Amino acid sequence: MQRRFGAGLTARTVGVTSVIAVVVVGLTLLTARTVGSLHTLVEDMASAEMENLMTSVRLVQQTESLISLGMMLAAAENHTERRTAMVELTDRTTWINKLTKNLLKQDDSRVLVSRVENTQSQLVTNIDLLNRLIRKRIDGEAAPEDMRLIRTLADVNRELAGRLSVLMGYYSASMRSQMVERSNQLNDEIEEHQRNLILLTAVLLLTALATGFTFEMTVVRRIRRIQSAVDADNVEPEQVEQKGQDEIAQLSRTLAGYIRRIREQESKMQRINGELAFLAEHDPLTGLANRRHFYAAADRLIRNSSTPLCVALGDIDHFKEINDRYGHAVGDRVLAEAATRLKSGLRESDILARVGGEEFAAILPMRSRDDCLHLFDQIRQSVAAYRFEPKPGHTLTMTISFGVTFLEDTSVATSEEEAENGLLSQALGAADQALYRAKHLGRNRVVCDQLEPYSYDRTGLTNANDDAKE
Ligand code: GH3
Ligand code: MG
Ligand code: MG
Repeated sequence: MQRRFGAGLTARTVGVTSVIAVVVVGLTLLTARTVGSLHTLVEDMASAEMENLMTSVRLVQQTESLISLGMMLAAAENHTERRTAMVELTDRTTWINKLTKNLLKQDDSRVLVSRVENTQSQLVTNIDLLNRLIRKRIDGEAAPEDMRLIRTLADVNRELAGRLSVLMGYYSASMRSQMVERSNQLNDEIEEHQRNLILLTAVLLLTALATGFTFEMTVVRRIRRIQSAVDADNVEPEQVEQKGQDEIAQLSRTLAGYIRRIREQESKMQRINGELAFLAEHDPLTGLANRRHFYAAADRLIRNSSTPLCVALGDIDHFKEINDRYGHAVGDRVLAEAATRLKSGLRESDILARVGGEEFAAILPMRSRDDCLHLFDQIRQSVAAYRFEPKPGHTLTMTISFGVTFLEDTSVATSEEEAENGLLSQALGAADQALYRAKHLGRNRVVCDQLEPYSYDRTGLTNANDDAKE
């Protein structure tokens, strides 16, 4: 669940960054298209300029032919030649008129326009006058001043056509330079726009990337670190990152607080569980293992031991009398004291338990039967040496009887569990028998369950066969 949360944030970061990147790229494409249309505009302007230039060239050609046609008219010998020249001249002037109108429509220089128009109308007027004079000359009605005027008019016309041509040349040159200037300006502007656009795109892209990176580092990664710290086994509150003051830091401090409380609860539970486990296996009065624990531990020992073992059962003598005479509390105290003396007579690793009211059982590795008898006789003496004054003038003593059995070979029965249990109960049965005999023989003694006679009467040690002597 948490893993999916982390992945979701990463996906969202990538998503947001991608959306920004797509918007930026879209904007760039849109602007590139606008710039492209500006380029087309510049190209259109260039082609219009080309068109104007061609018109100017055509105008110059028409004006030149106007000069030669004027000369043709001036030299006409008959009406046919005159009319032919006039038709051509009218045609040329109409053309020139049309072409100049087209050109001048686009120009904003009024001075130039009026000069061209004046020259044109003067030219048309002169051609008309020349035509009339030539007609008069062909008809033989021309006076000498008419002849002079014809010559003058031909010269003036030539000059007017030349001027028109020059004006058109000047006009087209100025048009061209204007266009070049405008297109250069436009190109500069486009280039500047392009540069700004690239810069803006780069800045936006970097901002998008930086936003994504910052989000990843300051949010997603921190959450992941907290998550993996919490996921780890046996997490300690200090392992959860708590730097900073933002919401994530506050959340991780809360989390660390929870972990701390959980850990405290855990250790409390462990302590209680330990106490419960101890109580389940131990007797609260003496602190010794209980019967259940004794059986389990004895079973384990028999199963794993390759050395001989000693099994002993002890029972405090006439304990009921102690209870009856001095009360249960004193009885408890005596019981605890007996347990202490038993415990201090054995090793830490030996198994000792309180298996009944005033009954104890022990199982421990031992080299020989004699060692068994000696060890428990020493414990018996230590118990018998106990003195206690339950009330003034009264001295309380106690004795204990032991029945022990020696297991020379435990290996014969270790192969099967049933056989092991059998061996343990057999040994305990034998020890119980020996204890019974110890009681029967007068108590305060150690009896070993033996077939052979084995007597230590004077020291308090007795073998099973002494039974018969009583
Ligand atoms: P014997 O020498 O034959 O063992 O005699 P006994 O009096 O010791 O044996 P008996 O079985 O007749 O009496 C055992 C007594 O131990 C009876 C019981 O009231 C007492 N007892 C058992 N458990 C406790 C205990 O936890 N505290 C006290 N104070 N007495 C206990
Ligand atoms: Mg008893
Ligand atoms: Mg007893």
